[in-house]
Amino acid sequence: MEDLPGIVITGASGRMGQMLIKTVVDSEKARLVGAVERTGHPWVGMDVGEAMGGQPLGVKVTDEPLEAFAKAQAVIDFTAPAATLQFAKLAAQARAVHVIGTTGMTDDDIAKLGPCGRHAVIVRAGNMSLGVNLLTQLTKKVAEALDEDFDIEVIEAHHHHKVDAPSGTALMLGEAAAEGRGVDLADVADRGRDGITGARKKGDIGFVAIRGGDIVGEHDVLFAAPGERITLRHVATDRSVFARGALKAALWGQDQKPGEYDMLDVLGL
Ligand code: NAP
Repeated sequence: MEDLPGIVITGASGRMGQMLIKTVVDSEKARLVGAVERTGHPWVGMDVGEAMGGQPLGVKVTDEPLEAFAKAQAVIDFTAPAATLQFAKLAAQARAVHVIGTTGMTDDDIAKLGPCGRHAVIVRAGNMSLGVNLLTQLTKKVAEALDEDFDIEVIEAHHHHKVDAPSGTALMLGEAAAEGRGVDLADVADRGRDGITGARKKGDIGFVAIRGGDIVGEHDVLFAAPGERITLRHVATDRSVFARGALKAALWGQDQKPGEYDMLDVLGL
């Protein structure tokens, strides 16, 4: 047991935080060694299992990330961009693998991860599920095969708590479509339509975000031409798919050289 890679979960009280804790505790390949929350959070100092309403797990929630990271082989982090940037520096200092599921990071944020990736392994993906990562590859292939007569729209739906749009996954799919077409997504992305927008521009890749209820995550990539349409679809019904993917990334990262990786590297796709 002591030999198994030790994992710290940040944002322990969050929707993904709690799912990640359950996934690590249930795994035979890793052990939970830390749970981090921000200073002042009511869970700080409590046993994380009890804080989640279950049996004690022997791990106290801490607001001292570096101390926790120093005892771990990997940090799994599904929080918010500002927190993730701080955790990246600390994970690099502790030489722990940093698995980042946080979405809504800007290009500037991502650039700031660079120096951390020189000291430790970072695996970052807007979606950690096997299905979505396969879907990005399919999207790229279909976009490669079809010309601009096919309008591409990425349509996503999530629960009403989600704070960023389009989702990290929608952006991954948009990037894959742009790559397939040999264009830069920044030049063709159409991210918000309201009012008299004018007709759709040929070659644009459109994004549509639906927010409601408890939808875990649904993504469609629509290729629409006069007379025919193709839709590629992924539906996540349970957050555990992201948590299992993140744990897989944390374990995979143990054997890699410092650097920045994504789930395609982890899954060998
Ligand atoms: P959530 O329920 O709001 O949880 C976020 C957690 O992060 C909370 O515990 C929150 O603590 C903590 N946090 C936020 N800002 C912090 C800060 N500055 N310092 C320390 N802790 C901080 O959200 P969620 O649904 O779990 O999603 C979390 C992130 O994961 C989002 O970016 C989401 O889009 C992403 N996500 C990614 C995937 C993927 O596969 N890559 C899948 C699902 C979700 P407080 O409660 O104290 O604010």
